[in-house]
Amino acid sequence: MSEAFSGSGAAGRPLDPAVGGPHDPEHDPRASYVLEPEIVARLTDRILATTGTTVQVHSPIDGAPLANIPQSSADDVDEAFRRARRAQAAWAKVSLDERARILHRLHDLVLDRQAEIMDLIQLESGKARKHAFDEPLHIALTARYYARTAHQHLDTRRVAGVVPGLTRVEVNRVAKGVVGIISPWNYPFTMALCDGLPALMAGNAVVAKPDAQTMLSALLGAQLLEEAGFPRDLWQVVAGPGRQLGTPIIDRADYICFTGSTATGKIIARQAAERLIGCSLELGGKNPILVLRDADIERAAEGAVRASFSNAGQLCVSTERMFVADQVYDRFVERFVARTKAMSLGATLDWDADMGALISADQLETVTAHVDDAVAKGARVLAGGRARPDLSPYYYEPTILEGVTPDMTCFGNETFGPVVSIYRFHDEADAIARANDGDYGLNGSIYTRDTARGRAIARQVKCGTVNVNEAFGATFASIAAPMGGMRESGMGRRQGREGILRYTETQSVGTQKLLRFGPMFGMSDEAYAKVMTASLRIMDKLGRA
Ligand code: NAD
Repeated sequence: MSEAFSGSGAAGRPLDPAVGGPHDPEHDPRASYVLEPEIVARLTDRILATTGTTVQVHSPIDGAPLANIPQSSADDVDEAFRRARRAQAAWAKVSLDERARILHRLHDLVLDRQAEIMDLIQLESGKARKHAFDEPLHIALTARYYARTAHQHLDTRRVAGVVPGLTRVEVNRVAKGVVGIISPWNYPFTMALCDGLPALMAGNAVVAKPDAQTMLSALLGAQLLEEAGFPRDLWQVVAGPGRQLGTPIIDRADYICFTGSTATGKIIARQAAERLIGCSLELGGKNPILVLRDADIERAAEGAVRASFSNAGQLCVSTERMFVADQVYDRFVERFVARTKAMSLGATLDWDADMGALISADQLETVTAHVDDAVAKGARVLAGGRARPDLSPYYYEPTILEGVTPDMTCFGNETFGPVVSIYRFHDEADAIARANDGDYGLNGSIYTRDTARGRAIARQVKCGTVNVNEAFGATFASIAAPMGGMRESGMGRRQGREGILRYTETQSVGTQKLLRFGPMFGMSDEAYAKVMTASLRIMDKLGRA
């Protein structure tokens, strides 16, 4: 815990005490933390809100009130865009090198201040500390990547002109202007910030609307941007329900970057289309793992725990379906179940919990409903399967289900919780077809000792990212790799070249010397057409020579 916060935490507890070791039954497993009012005030001061109304948010760790969040109106959104536009006009003139220097400073800041960042993320989301660490890590990686590669992506480049030597053509990358970023609660620090870094690097300003449940982590991100050296007005933050603020944002933005559910993504896409502005949509998934018959079982079981239960499964790329080859099914299931039962459970700011709480009563209700429905229809619970109010109000055990069938809700619908269904397969082609079943296509994993074959099979998996012998980290943490969904899992990509070019317009500038594109020297139109035809033939011959 950082010095900025006070409180007492509970030690992590094993899912199955017989596997994970004894715990002290006298010890109250519910943690209790207090967020200093000055910290809350410093953060919430960044919200552009004049309505005078606030909404109280609670920590999922213990249900205690955390902060009162001022709420923005449509007029506040308007003012946010006005300020952002003014700031962007100046920012667009700042050199790439200077922008990159500021991004590098942000990289250092998030690493230096990681304890404070993780505390806030955990208090707002209830996640385990090791999963909170992924957030400053992802921001540091993103900042470093775009700082280092800015020139590669954004420098003006020459392309071939129509008349060699006489037509000079340059392609500029021009900032779109003000980007609206609407982000979810599950990775409240990095999801609020990571897409904005390339937007700023490309010369844009941002108006951000983070999820209402996790405003403080997003606001700390905004504060760190300013501390790193970005002008304060370049990053505006508004607060309120997406249903109310979404439309005013889309109505004013030059581009929209959305991360959240597929249902909301479709609403955003329709509104963006109406205005003919671009949008990128990072949406849901029902992500599969394939464990092939030659897989390293221990490695696959370890990866399966991370794939299924990171951030209590509230992760867009986490696994909810596991297809395991007949030949290794029993061994794999035994190791996966044993590892899951050995997990240390608890809602605490310390490092000792392997999995934290769900974020809200809504999430707990969805997870409980999915598991109860599956069990009522005949699924078997191999591990977990219960809410744990003794650990925190919204805690649900990491759960493995077997015998899930298409009539069960969790067969094809995203649970977005710590619940994975495990299926046996006899034929690899059939397993790939089952993995491709449904409308989603975000992330897939393949465990095999034959990595070349794994990569070949990856091409048949209809997902935007596929990890061989890893859950999701190999692609997600490789910022040079574009990340996003096929089919109903999204549109466009974050990260990599695509992740920054989406925030730019290409502008071609042609400069013509001597010749003009029309008859010259008293030539008729017909003679001009003949000269041009002959020239085209000669150029083609030269090109082929
Ligand atoms: P959600 O769509 O309900 O909310 C996400 C954001 O959209 C919030 O800020 C919310 O206020 C806003 N919003 C809600 N309705 C809106 C509207 N009509 N117009 C504009 N904005 C609106 O999603 P959620 O349930 O909070 O988040 C979980 C979902 O997000 C899951 O499906 C998960 O898979 C997905 N997700 C995807 C990624 C990814 O990178 N692909 C990452 C994280 C989460």
